[in-house]
Amino acid sequence: IINTAIQLTGSPCRISIAVNKSNYTHDMVLRTGVFNVSVLTEEATFWVFRHYGFQSGRDTDKFAGIPENRTENGLRYIDGCTNAVLSGKVVQTVDCGTHTLFIAEVTDAKVLSNDKSVTYQYYFDHIKPKPEKKKGWVCKICGYVYEGEELPADFVCPLCKHGAEDFERQK
Ligand code: FE
Repeated sequence: IINTAIQLTGSPCRISIAVNKSNYTHDMVLRTGVFNVSVLTEEATFWVFRHYGFQSGRDTDKFAGIPENRTENGLRYIDGCTNAVLSGKVVQTVDCGTHTLFIAEVTDAKVLSNDKSVTYQYYFDHIKPKPEKKKGWVCKICGYVYEGEELPADFVCPLCKHGAEDFERQK
């Protein structure tokens, strides 16, 4: 959801995405061989990132309760903060240790607006909340804060389902 898609070639139109193996999305892409990408704009709030980007879809329907916005080809998107949507059909997978790189043929692409795409830098500077100064552990993946002096070794982030190894002491 944040700068993960890269265009590799124009003809055929191919893109790549790198997905962390411990994410639910990874298993979904591996199993189905297809995926959709939403290109978010600078209007996207932290809630959008947290809800759609970081929260695991394993146990929840992330789209429950939000308006059904779809392109003619059926691609779902969040209105107001998405400037493009695209679909990929995986043609190659590359094992890259913690991540798998999926190379895909673009099967559908639609521009929704000309609003500026959000970059990592913009996200860190303007969207991601600055952590509060108190004792605790923060999830490096999604920003979830565990309040307490010591983080249990078997702790699992309730939002993104990453384990204690992906937490760092709050600075
Ligand atoms: Fe997390």
